Amino acid sequence: MKVQTPFEWNQRSRLLEQRERSRRLRGDLRTAATTRSEYEPHDVVDDEAAIQADVLDAKLEAIEIALERIESGNYGSCTSCNAEIGEQRLEALPTATTCRSCAASDVA
Ligand SMILES: [Zn+2]
Repeated sequence: MKVQTPFEWNQRSRLLEQRERSRRLRGDLRTAATTRSEYEPHDVVDDEAAIQADVLDAKLEAIEIALERIESGNYGSCTSCNAEIGEQRLEALPTATTCRSCAASDVA
């Protein structure tokens, strides 16, 4: 039943690639944040690493959601108004779950 379009397939491999990269990076950051703070005073660099790791956690979560949406066939439809998100927007932001106008009104 899962028929993926070439576009979805392409997005899926991009997301998997991003997930790999983010996971590696996050591991490095966590290591940097924990190993250093054990014998050095907690400094700005450690905080920076922890913040970046948190950002990556959020990104990884968004990637998981996008991958699930591809699996379930919901990828590309806006979670807020059900409109097509549009391939152009998804190309730029593969983890997007809302269309351009919903994203815009969300920010405002
Ligand atoms: Zn929308």
